[in-house]
Amino acid sequence: MSGLAETISNLRKEVCALHAELTRYELVVWTAGNVSARVPGEELMVIKPSGVSYDELVPDSVVVTDLYGTPADGDWGNPPLSPSSDTAAHAHVYRHMPDVGGVVHTHSMYATAWAARGEPVPCVLTMMADEFGGEIPVGPFALIGDDSIGQGIVETLRGSDSPAVLMRNHGPFTIGKDAKAAVKAAVMCEEVARTVHVSRQLGDPLPIDPEQIASLHARYQNAYGQ
Ligand SMILES: [Zn+2]
Repeated sequence: MSGLAETISNLRKEVCALHAELTRYELVVWTAGNVSARVPGEELMVIKPSGVSYDELVPDSVVVTDLYGTPADGDWGNPPLSPSSDTAAHAHVYRHMPDVGGVVHTHSMYATAWAARGEPVPCVLTMMADEFGGEIPVGPFALIGDDSIGQGIVETLRGSDSPAVLMRNHGPFTIGKDAKAAVKAAVMCEEVARTVHVSRQLGDPLPIDPEQIASLHARYQNAYGQ
């Protein structure tokens, strides 16, 4: 097996396992939702196949495509499956955001409810400041089928510290340095969307001073953890 085939084999295992996190945190139903990873140093990505249930997903069914979403053959062997219907959006992000190594999409309930109203989730929790560095922004209305979802994600996230965007009337897309970081952002996005929603039921959540948000974000991104 070539070095590249081995890298892809490991990424397929990782991306397959990360899909189980989407169901564990109840971010997806049926076959909705998808995780992808960039193949480092290559014009390739791996992504969930279209229409395969989470219970049936195995590493060998994860599809390898180029950065335009076309399945790419090689000694890694591609399954006879189409890539996710959201592949064009993921591919667009990898082409235009070179630091992004992972992309996740879900229709998780609370984040999608904010997306349905076209309302950003305001930064009213210290954990939001940590993870998102401000509000979770809303991206434009865009239909599946061409590059418009990918363009909306890139345009919205380029000027933002947030790794999550709520595509209007659709749901969240998240990015990260790798697929695991993008999954974490998807989990945290749903968590804060739910908490701020609940807080709203009894009044107006209190804003956090922008300077405090910036300081929390810098500390968490640079110094937190092991
Ligand atoms: Zn979707």
